[in-house]
Amino acid sequence: MTVILDSSHDFEAVVGLEVHVQLSTQSKAFCSDSASFGNQPNQNISAVSLGLPGALPLCNEKIIRYATKLGLALNCKINQHNFFDRKNYFYADLPKGYQITQDNEPICLGGSLKIRLESGEEKDIRLNRIHMEEDAGKSIHDLDPLYSYIDLNRAGVPLLEVVTEPMISSGEEAAAYLIELRKLVRYLDICDGNMEEGSMRCDANISIRLKGDKNLGNRCEVKNLNSIKNVQKAIEHEIERQIKLRLKGEKIEQNTLNFDAVTGKTSPLRSKETANDYRYFPEPDLLPLVLTDDFLNEVKAEMPILPEELLQRLTQEMNLPVYDALVITAEKSMADYFLEVVKHTSNYKMAANWVMGNIKSYLNEQQFTFEDFKVPAQEIAQIINLIDEKVINHHQAKDQLFVALLKNPNEKVKDLVSKLNLALRDDQDELANFIVKVLAKFPDKVNEYHHGKKGVIGLFMGEVMKLSHGKVDPKKANQLLIEKIESLK
Ligand code: ADP
Ligand code: MG
Repeated sequence: MTVILDSSHDFEAVVGLEVHVQLSTQSKAFCSDSASFGNQPNQNISAVSLGLPGALPLCNEKIIRYATKLGLALNCKINQHNFFDRKNYFYADLPKGYQITQDNEPICLGGSLKIRLESGEEKDIRLNRIHMEEDAGKSIHDLDPLYSYIDLNRAGVPLLEVVTEPMISSGEEAAAYLIELRKLVRYLDICDGNMEEGSMRCDANISIRLKGDKNLGNRCEVKNLNSIKNVQKAIEHEIERQIKLRLKGEKIEQNTLNFDAVTGKTSPLRSKETANDYRYFPEPDLLPLVLTDDFLNEVKAEMPILPEELLQRLTQEMNLPVYDALVITAEKSMADYFLEVVKHTSNYKMAANWVMGNIKSYLNEQQFTFEDFKVPAQEIAQIINLIDEKVINHHQAKDQLFVALLKNPNEKVKDLVSKLNLALRDDQDELANFIVKVLAKFPDKVNEYHHGKKGVIGLFMGEVMKLSHGKVDPKKANQLLIEKIESLK
């Protein structure tokens, strides 16, 4: 029977992501060479990184700890008996001729990550596994017309590969997944999460199938995706390409594709060998790993607060709107700063407004992050408290105090208030005096007010603020003004 397909709506997309997370350890995975980025080529290399005969690897305990942390954060099953394998292949940037990785017994199994879509919809993306492995070196083909160069600084740098189940359905979902994963590794402080610099690398496996079909279609794997936006674009482009082919009655070949960020298109890199030809076998130079209960408990005790938990705290304990809580927890450095502020003030909403508003706008303008922000959180809390206590008003706080603090982050808010002569005067007689003067100055406006033109209050308020040089509490002034003007009836 032939099925006539005439609509792209008959299809659904199936995507699985493999993300390499580069761990921010000081030394490499299996030797003491520095794992740092940006050094002179081939500076961080010893016999182990070079794969010289007889050199033996030694496992960096940090990578096991970091993998466990990520596994716990993602609710994976931690595989307490696991081991490393050799993945054999030949390439110039892999001098040993094999990569140390984990094949059959990865350190973490299962688990999931909750994502949020623009529509507000939430979805749990199930994980297949997380395994530990080492990176290869880097081949440089564009420095010389005849020769390729090899930089082995990266050879042996530790990676975690996080593999999802094929259950992501769109480019948007993939982007949301990467945003959440990046957030998590930053909260855990195991990776800087910078995709543009290669600390997080993503391969996307994409296939389509008829809606309702249980079987997976042939997939294409897109490589070289160096930003979240590009992952989304590549997936969207690839889904469209595959649907077009199917509608023309053609088959999807299982291919490895390259993504060109300039054209936004994918193109074949190589056709994928379906057979597993890496000849994996257990790494004989490293002992199997046994994670004891004590070790697991130790790592559990070291776990920092995670974004999801913090979101709950902000919305439930501090009563912040979900929107605010999402914005604040999106960036770890912002969340950390906010938490410092609320150590010193209990006006959580105003603290949130300051962090997301005045401070964030300033940092954006300067292209700074919260880590670069020099004003101590305690001083921001002090400003909030002074507003709360009606010692200063919002305008003074933003336009004068905050500006002065930015210029001189070491100043104390209390001192600045007196230096800038900012404190609101809490003098009822003086305020009454201003009001009487203003009302006397505009008798016809007073008359208009009594004939129902209540809007003139704005004019009176402006005049009172002018007379007092903005140093009266607007709320009190407004209240007293209405009292006085009513009493003139
Ligand atoms: P490989 O050994 O080629 O890396 P895996 O079985 O480990 O393949 O799967 C790699 C990724 O591809 C996983 O994220 C998985 O969910 C995804 N994947 C597997 N098959 C498909 C498919 N048909 N369509 C989309 N994604 C798939
Ligand atoms: Mg793979």
